[in-house]
Amino acid sequence: MSPLTDAEILAADLAHVWHPYTSATEPLPVYPVASAEGVRIRLMDGRELVDGMSSWWAAIHGYRHPVLDAAVTHQLSRMSHVMFGGLTHEPAVMLAELLAGLTEGRLPRVFFCDSGSVAVEVAIKMAWQYWHARGRPGKKRLISIESGYHGDTLGAMSVCDPVTGMHGVFSGVLPRQIFAPAPRLGFRDTWNEEDAAELARLVRHHRDETAALILEPIVQGAGGMRFYSPGYLRRVRELCDENEILFIADEIATGFGRSGEMLACQHAGVWPDILCLGKALTGGYMSLAATLSTQDVAKTVSQGSPGVFMHGPTFMGNPLACATALASVRLLLSSPWRERVSGIEDVFRKEFDPIRYLPGVADVRVLGAIGVVEMERPVNVASMQKRFVEKGVWVRPFGRLVYLMPPFIIENADLYKLTGAVSEVIFEEHEQ
Ligand SMILES: *Cc1c(COP(=O)(O)O)cnc(C)c1O
Repeated sequence: MSPLTDAEILAADLAHVWHPYTSATEPLPVYPVASAEGVRIRLMDGRELVDGMSSWWAAIHGYRHPVLDAAVTHQLSRMSHVMFGGLTHEPAVMLAELLAGLTEGRLPRVFFCDSGSVAVEVAIKMAWQYWHARGRPGKKRLISIESGYHGDTLGAMSVCDPVTGMHGVFSGVLPRQIFAPAPRLGFRDTWNEEDAAELARLVRHHRDETAALILEPIVQGAGGMRFYSPGYLRRVRELCDENEILFIADEIATGFGRSGEMLACQHAGVWPDILCLGKALTGGYMSLAATLSTQDVAKTVSQGSPGVFMHGPTFMGNPLACATALASVRLLLSSPWRERVSGIEDVFRKEFDPIRYLPGVADVRVLGAIGVVEMERPVNVASMQKRFVEKGVWVRPFGRLVYLMPPFIIENADLYKLTGAVSEVIFEEHEQ
């Protein structure tokens, strides 16, 4: 089928393509993919890999799901795209209504954008415009917590972890934000106010210059794969209310069931003022994100000067992406996703527990359909990746972390293949 051979693809890739977070001159190895279906990624050399990554939290239904394929094809026969200025369409309005419904109507206004990072930029701009409209233009700074990740654009970068994030290279360009220590108590630990004491101090101290507090609820993803106490999130909501600060929940990774609740905020029973969704929104089919706001935020922004929200991407509300997202969210809601996620959690708990005692392992943690092994030292990504591929699984470690977040539809036999490969590879790498 493909006009290029495996070797030709690799040569062209090496000559012309820049991969995420890599060197153009000394890139890590890449594996050409021919196709993917269900939980399997098929390489051009014919090998099949069980997917342990859901293509970075996105492919929750697996690849080439017939319902999603049909949604794309159906929308393609009507229109792929029309501009969203002055025009609207069924996929966008139906999706907006469905997403607002996921928040039980608390965040009824939906702004569509192209990627997670942009959804975060939009959230930050909404918060700025909110305080501008309320005659408090001095409220411009953001409070966040360490070990967070919010994306790669400028505003988003400014609230990523200041050490592991990108503050070194880009210092001087990024706005300087306020960081509290990351929560120390784990998801199942008994809540103790001490864990948010420094956050509380910072919030009170900076209240007059702060527009919003932004964090990833319950699960800190790319900044360290950490799970924290719902008590912390409840404290965040209280502190924001007491100090006139908007609360932005970045659920780009956690949204759509991954942590065991549809939205991770629901573990704590709190709602943000602004909510960012992305990644699994289209079931991993294409790039789409959304920023949802409360009626208060939408009204205040719209009624203050300049009377409009100042953002509007070219591909806003792309019909193809909206139709796919609509099908994906409906498919999720009509599936036994809660049972599937807790089934994955049970297998991870059982299978990851002995990994804790392997040499070089610092910690093991599981929440929902996320299983994390934290090593004492950074892993060799290239050599580990190669071993995983040889064992027929797709797992991509980063830093000191080896982790699994498979599609929800995975069968137990494939799940055991993933967890078995993780423990074998960690053991074998240590033997080297
Ligand atoms: C991935 C991610 C983003 C950025 O999304 P992109 O689509 O990569 O721009 C933002 N926030 C969180 C929590 C994420 O996991």
